[in-house]
Amino acid sequence: MRLHFLALAICLSLSLSSTRVSARFFPNITAIPPSVINNAPPGAWESFNNFTGCRPGEKYDGLNKLKKYFDHFGYIPNAPSNFTDDFDDEFEEAVKKYQKNFNLNVTGELDENTLQQIMKPRCGVADIINGTTTMNSGKENTTSASNSTHFHTVSHYTFFEGKPRWPEGTQELTYGFLPDNQLTDQVKSVFATAFDRWAEVTTLTFSEASSYYTADIRIGFYTGDHGDGEPFDGVLGTLAHAFSPTNGRFHLDGDEEWVVSGDVTQSELSSAVDLESVAVHEIGHLLGLGHSSDLDAIMYPTISSRTRKVELNNDDISGIQELYGSNPNYTGSSTTSQERDFSHGHHLTVVGHRWGLATFLFLGFAFLIF
Ligand SMILES: [Zn+2]
Ligand SMILES: [Zn+2]
Repeated sequence: MRLHFLALAICLSLSLSSTRVSARFFPNITAIPPSVINNAPPGAWESFNNFTGCRPGEKYDGLNKLKKYFDHFGYIPNAPSNFTDDFDDEFEEAVKKYQKNFNLNVTGELDENTLQQIMKPRCGVADIINGTTTMNSGKENTTSASNSTHFHTVSHYTFFEGKPRWPEGTQELTYGFLPDNQLTDQVKSVFATAFDRWAEVTTLTFSEASSYYTADIRIGFYTGDHGDGEPFDGVLGTLAHAFSPTNGRFHLDGDEEWVVSGDVTQSELSSAVDLESVAVHEIGHLLGLGHSSDLDAIMYPTISSRTRKVELNNDDISGIQELYGSNPNYTGSSTTSQERDFSHGHHLTVVGHRWGLATFLFLGFAFLIF
């Protein structure tokens, strides 16, 4: 009897271990084998480095690939079906918009700083949707501290078009993990921690659903084309993407070298990506935030490999609290460490560009493919 049980256990463990897991996880950086470190493939966008120094008015072999990149992230309105290799006026405009969003010198040329920024791994969600952007709108907010003193802050957080959010009165959102991924409890706990960072500052709470299929937020690791028109691209490049409320889809690139815990900054593997950092960012989208041009914000679109960035900053907190209100237990301030404005009796106008038409189309697209 005991032998039968042992045989059954062995069979079971063999069948489990041979099941394909579609993502690469390392519990910490010391768990990354030297064979992986020594054979790290180039990042998806490394070849763009060849375009350093490219200028308007010239033609460059393969520039159409970079145009596709700019198109994907929303920088080329009315994009043609085929891109040429000409550095034309439209492309120059796209480069300038990109430089503005990422706080670079607006030169319209592919200078070194611009190319370095372009090649950084990033979120797959576009910065500009349907031609509208507020990523660097610099909305000015004024808080009156007394009759004569105003504190003004510049915020860069954005929303999807139409400012979609989870319905008024939503207190708890559930999340589930794609069963095929067979994630370990350690990996799942990283997501729980990431959700808690947003719960801490809002009225929302998050819990794991009993079923993936009925969860509000559905988390899955996929590789390449996975059926939503937003294929993943292997190591680095796009790391993850998520849909605006109330779609709930949260996809991560199963080809990344995901580091689950510990200090990713000390990793010998150049393509190591910190899982929690990416999770916190994507949850921002799932709740309704767009990208921010604030370099320190979680909602900034790029994150380098071997980087850990998990703390919401003031820009993130102001944005999410505008959507869902503040957690009564949250004692931090979302308007600290900002510029003080002592101009008397002068109320600054809140310049509130929103993602005008942006997400309307995005949502329409999402419904079509959902
Ligand atoms: Zn994003
Ligand atoms: Zn996807």
